[in-house]
Amino acid sequence: MDFSSLDPDGRHRAFVEDVRAFLAEHVTEEVRETERRTGDGYNREFYRALGSRGWIRPELPRERGGAGLDRSEVAILRAELERAKAPTRQLSTIRLVSPAIEQYGQSPLREQVLDGIARGEVCLSLGFTEPQGGSDVASARLRATRDGDEWTISGSKMFTTNGHQADYCFLLTRTDPTVGKHKGLTMFLMPLKIPGVEAQGIFTFSGERTNMMFYDDARISDVHRLGEVNGGWSVLRGPLDAEHGLGGMVNDGLDALPMGPAFLYEARDALDAALDWAEATGSIGDGAVVDRLADAIALSEAAYATDGASGRVLGAEALDRIGAELISLIGPEALLEDEAADGGMADFAYRYAQGTKTYGGAIGVFRTVIAQHELGLPRMELPGSRAFLTK
Ligand SMILES: Cc1cc2nc3c(=O)[nH]c(=O)nc-3n(C[C@H](O)[C@H](O)[C@H](O)COP(=O)(O)OP(=O)(O)OC[C@H]3O[C@@H](n4cnc5c(N)ncnc54)[C@H](O)[C@@H]3O)c2cc1C
Repeated sequence: MDFSSLDPDGRHRAFVEDVRAFLAEHVTEEVRETERRTGDGYNREFYRALGSRGWIRPELPRERGGAGLDRSEVAILRAELERAKAPTRQLSTIRLVSPAIEQYGQSPLREQVLDGIARGEVCLSLGFTEPQGGSDVASARLRATRDGDEWTISGSKMFTTNGHQADYCFLLTRTDPTVGKHKGLTMFLMPLKIPGVEAQGIFTFSGERTNMMFYDDARISDVHRLGEVNGGWSVLRGPLDAEHGLGGMVNDGLDALPMGPAFLYEARDALDAALDWAEATGSIGDGAVVDRLADAIALSEAAYATDGASGRVLGAEALDRIGAELISLIGPEALLEDEAADGGMADFAYRYAQGTKTYGGAIGVFRTVIAQHELGLPRMELPGSRAFLTK
């Protein structure tokens, strides 16, 4: 990022103070505790408060529900939200999906939903992954069948985070199983609070909730369709590329939200707690302990400073390694349930890291993105792919 436009003594300092005062009021201990327990990334009250400031899509002009912030201010806002441990994951979803709603949505639903998002009233979820498909989202089987001006949706989706509380799902469906897999897909802005839609919770190692979603002949109007019938891949590609750090479709020239830094706030907290532990136990006087802590801090900072797909991979891997290293440093007392020597921070960082290696795209896929798009290496033939098996 170009820091030359920052004015730390004037306008930007005042903005930092404004954001911090807002967050001190609204990111209460209860909001933080709920976020850590559920990993929802969304809290309706907090999002309403953000919406009242125009900070859900802050780069948009005020007449479109934003706050007209410039790039530096948006970067400050993001950093302060992460630092305060506000529930931010919904902001990334909004950021990925809103441009697709703008471009492909049908009036007046489009305007209603975009207005609701800006006010913090509408929560979105992503419905790409299916039980049998994993990262290969284009193999989607969930069926959408047309019936006049309506569609019937039937099948299941795996790992729909927020599916239990979201108002809509950015849903990938199969509308024609007889053509090539990328050709028979259609996207919908699927309402979730209707008959025939059910969410069943799945919990990660660290307690974050995601969902298996069941669509049992759920009927929706054609106004929920995004883009052409069987043209779903073009609608999905922008948000998917943005999620994979390939630029893709993001708001008003801003970069896609990097996920690595969000993970690394957990690493920083675990490192702070480990430093407190080292002070309290006198281990800080041991050069070997100091070396190990310094290495972990350096890794965390290096990962934090790395952006794009590499930052995504390094962020998740650094959190995993730092969590494991701190547990090994502190010893079994890091794992005590209620009386862990560091307040359970290293244990939580390690467990939390396991999900970060998968959601938003498995890091193996990001490695492929780095190889093909950043290093220009040839396409990889995966074990199980037809090309690999017929070699
Ligand atoms: C907590 C959580 C929340 C999630 N939230 C959502 C959500 O809200 N919406 C949604 O649609 N999905 C969501 N997902 C799905 C997630 O984004 C992954 O895409 C999906 O989990 C990957 O599928 P899989 O786990 O079956 O792994 P697979 O795709 O079966 O991968 C297995 C292994 O193969 C590797 N691999 C696969 N393909 C490639 C490739 N092309 N190149 C290199 N290596 C590869 C992977 O890295 C992995 O190690 C979530 C997943 C989790 C765990």
